[in-house]
Amino acid sequence: MSTLGLADLYAARQRLAGLVRRTPLQPSPALAALAGGDVRLKLECLQETGAFKLRGATNKLASLSAEERARGVIAVSTGNHGRAVAFAAKRLGVRAVVCLSELVPNNKLEAIRALGAELVIEGKSQDEAEVVAGRLIEAEGLIYVHPFDDPAVLTGQGTIGLELIEDWPELDTCLVPLSGGGLMAGIALALKAVNPAIRMIGITMEQGAAMHESLAAGRPVAVEEVASLADSLGGGIGMNNRWTLPLCRDLVDETLLVSEAEIAAGMRHLLMEERLVAEGGAAVGVAALLAGKVDLAGRRTAILVSGQNVDMGKLLEVVGQGGDG
Ligand SMILES: *Cc1c(COP(=O)(O)O)cnc(C)c1O
Repeated sequence: MSTLGLADLYAARQRLAGLVRRTPLQPSPALAALAGGDVRLKLECLQETGAFKLRGATNKLASLSAEERARGVIAVSTGNHGRAVAFAAKRLGVRAVVCLSELVPNNKLEAIRALGAELVIEGKSQDEAEVVAGRLIEAEGLIYVHPFDDPAVLTGQGTIGLELIEDWPELDTCLVPLSGGGLMAGIALALKAVNPAIRMIGITMEQGAAMHESLAAGRPVAVEEVASLADSLGGGIGMNNRWTLPLCRDLVDETLLVSEAEIAAGMRHLLMEERLVAEGGAAVGVAALLAGKVDLAGRRTAILVSGQNVDMGKLLEVVGQGGDG
């Protein structure tokens, strides 16, 4: 069982002070009307680098000793984590190497390169890129920054939970995009510590729902990586998962799956009704609400909108396919 708690979240918040943004919690009258309850959107899409992952990466780098920082860091990423590590490393004056699979979209590659990280593009999956990173860690003594299964990373993400409970003490339901589970585990640690009755609902795409299947099986399950609008939710939870699977098992009330069409509808709603650019992985909470997959009647629900790093051509294509033009 984990020993992580509120004290770790507050320590993370102290390290992050002045380095990450406190993001707005924006009411959505349109979604509230649909749900028959109060609905507010936590806009991590407005976090610097365009996604919440800056919190975890910055907390990890800020936790390193001077000797470790001098060695440099390495990350394997489907995009947003790499971007976050690159950004945090540059700000803290640390060398960063980012390994990516060939599936990662171009806009994400360029963003990471522009932040000054060294890129290694090799392998057909996150797992293959992982092997490449292992080689470089041995050869060059770089410090590995895990995208989710690390106490420093997940408590960094958990600072979102502290902001939520401060900004909206009455919230009783929280919808969180779920992949490796660092975002969910961190936020759940915060919210459940304050009020165990808060319902934590994890949402992911139908294809390759690694945490969903691992929770059902009670152990890490390998999934096939399939191209999805929610590309930032791709990848496994790691066969040697140590932190996020136990935390999600203990703290998550329910997991839900959404289809590609439902994710598209979520992205469309966020752009057209809320005036927000959201990537597919960030739109799954809104997608679940729109699809009627979660009953939020009479509840006070915060929905995490986790990132905005979508190719704009892709977003406009998705929005253009909408029923009402
Ligand atoms: C990484 C990511 C997620 C999922 O976070 P996990 O900690 O892996 O569960 C959700 N949304 C976006 C935009 C992401 O980049």
